[in-house]
Amino acid sequence: MRYVSTRGRAPTLGFDDVLLAGLATDGGLYVPEQWPTLTAADLLALRGKSYAEVAARVMAPFVAGSVLEKDLPRLCAQAYGRFTHPAVAPLKQLDANEWLLELFHGPTFAFKDYALQLVGLFFEHVLKARGSRITIVGATSGDTGSAAIEACRDRANIDIFIMHPSGRTSEVQRRQMTTVDAANVHNIALAGTFDDCQDIVKALFADTTFRTELNLSAVNSINWARIMAQIVYYVWAAIHLGAPDRKITFAVPTGNFGNVFAGYAAYRMGLPIAKLIVGSNRNDILTRYFETGAMTVEGVQPSLSPSMDIQVSSNFERLLFEAYDRDGAAVSRLMDQLKQGGRYTVAPAAHAKIGALFSGARLDDEGTKKAMRELHDATGELIDPHSVVGIHAGRVLDTDRSIPRVALATAHPAKFPDAVKSAIGSAPPPPAPLAAVFNRSERFTELANDVDAVRRFIRANVSA
Ligand SMILES: *Cc1c(COP(=O)(O)O)cnc(C)c1O
Repeated sequence: MRYVSTRGRAPTLGFDDVLLAGLATDGGLYVPEQWPTLTAADLLALRGKSYAEVAARVMAPFVAGSVLEKDLPRLCAQAYGRFTHPAVAPLKQLDANEWLLELFHGPTFAFKDYALQLVGLFFEHVLKARGSRITIVGATSGDTGSAAIEACRDRANIDIFIMHPSGRTSEVQRRQMTTVDAANVHNIALAGTFDDCQDIVKALFADTTFRTELNLSAVNSINWARIMAQIVYYVWAAIHLGAPDRKITFAVPTGNFGNVFAGYAAYRMGLPIAKLIVGSNRNDILTRYFETGAMTVEGVQPSLSPSMDIQVSSNFERLLFEAYDRDGAAVSRLMDQLKQGGRYTVAPAAHAKIGALFSGARLDDEGTKKAMRELHDATGELIDPHSVVGIHAGRVLDTDRSIPRVALATAHPAKFPDAVKSAIGSAPPPPAPLAAVFNRSERFTELANDVDAVRRFIRANVSA
């Protein structure tokens, strides 16, 4: 499989290069040159298979020609073997025709593990085959950092440096990162804000000498391999609820649009998806887009669902590319408008195509707490503050009650004890591995908010 950039001016690459590159050289995002198909017979053949087997089958066409092609089934078995629920991604019934797809049974209790556990193994495999090393540098305000660290810990040929704003992440989230005992993991507590951390990461990547010398890389959600791995659980849920014979609707709590774009990819492959419903918190740029056809940037406000506090959704660019019939020049123009004026309007034909499948609804913090309380009263379930935003959007926007609806649960409620407590009066009991981070010693280095200090620290601590 070859991959093309959404902006049409970067070289076409194979899977391994796309994995290591992340962003395309023209600033665009990579997408497969054509969408592989899953026929009705293919879907029927997946019934009764394990999650790892479904994963290997769904992803096979995307890694065709890669050095890891033959090892894909083994890598899937290894990655998902670490998950704690035997189903890996269990479905739980919430209402007459509504299900929760629990995507929090990985090592860090959030859905990012479903992609990152595999991507960590992919990196290791490709780097070994090429005899090269990379240095992963990232900034985190919470979830992403721990999922990336768990994915890369103890992997040959990788060093990972994750910066968090000192004193500004929750204790659980900090400890999930800093109690990992692995020689290739380096936590930096920066004397600054999350934005300062991000600025330093950007400055390091902009320093070409440093970037080349250390082979800097990122594992952010614009990496195609992460989207690819997320397609799997859409297929998995749908075959359990009757696909290919029945259509399914999905409701997805959304930030950067990576998760729900994977649902779109499943749709393009032939999965019978009726609707993709997007939930936003008070940072509702996507809901405003679905309502108006215009994407307009505003400031970010903190919310009860911090992993969805975004200013722009980077992966939306991939959907634009499809809606504009793969016209990279048109996508480039929209992205330039966004950069220069903080706004673009989608052409009516493209907007109509998007609207035929997608819709979105917002939920503010008060609504989030109320919805958590109501769900708890009705079902006894504790739902985390991100997942409830998706459930709510599904309930508000889905009008066809005959089609099963799956709401994606993106985090374990115990990762957000304060939000749950503010909604229902008591915090959820943490699962044993999450509780254990409070008994382990932490390892991190405090650094000044200074790019030179961070650069020196990284140079001094890379393994090779
Ligand atoms: C990252 C994250 C999201 C948002 O997912 P996107 O792919 O960025 O849309 C939602 N919920 C949780 C818990 C997350 O960690």
